[in-house]
Amino acid sequence: VANLRLDRLLANLGYGSRREIGALARAGRVVLDGHPLRDADQRIPVTPDLAGRMVVDGEPLDPPPGLALMLHKPRGVTCSHKEAGPLVYGLFPARWRRRDPAISTVGRLDKETSGLLLLTDDGALLHRIISPKASVSKRYQVYLDRPLRGDEAAIFASGTLMLKGEERPLLPVALTVHEPTRAAVTLTEGRYHQVRRMFAAVGNHVTALHRDRVGGLDLPQDLEPGGYRVMRQDEIARVF
Ligand code: URA
Repeated sequence: VANLRLDRLLANLGYGSRREIGALARAGRVVLDGHPLRDADQRIPVTPDLAGRMVVDGEPLDPPPGLALMLHKPRGVTCSHKEAGPLVYGLFPARWRRRDPAISTVGRLDKETSGLLLLTDDGALLHRIISPKASVSKRYQVYLDRPLRGDEAAIFASGTLMLKGEERPLLPVALTVHEPTRAAVTLTEGRYHQVRRMFAAVGNHVTALHRDRVGGLDLPQDLEPGGYRVMRQDEIARVF
């Protein structure tokens, strides 16, 4: 557990400059376990339960560093600063965008894709999830323009499908057909626009795409589009 000076901890969480936080503390507006912390120099053990114990200006402290979030990404928001349109980060409180270390997405979903998106400020966790070695699976619900022909599952499972402009075939992908124009795919790679390009390669067109599972973690039924929550340790463990 890291010990951080109170002013450093709060500055890194976006509450203001260290000077501003010094003033906040002196005014008795930072409270731990019911006692005002008037000295911003003091060191605080950054434990996961800190958000339940510290109060700033009457509000529970933001989640301390080392957090992971699950977001129900709505269609129309982007994961990349390079793309036009509103960013997923705009769905969180403004102060969260001033955090250091910053919160970033674990991989990406296309602007028009909805569903389960993880975010974290923990670089080690990020790399553990996206590492090809971990081969965390992702499941997508796919809505298609044309009825499936019937040979797609075998083609996707073969490990020989080449996408346009690529030099290595895709690793096998499992296809489950729900209806002639509705299916699920489970894959472990995450190549650019992979699902859309896979269906283009078999003469179809994806009209809507929704990710409902990452590893063993399902998108919670009660998490509405745009909704998010801080992940518990047992939820993080389900990803692997
Ligand atoms: N495949 C896609 O084509 N888009 C996504 O957002 C994810 C997987």
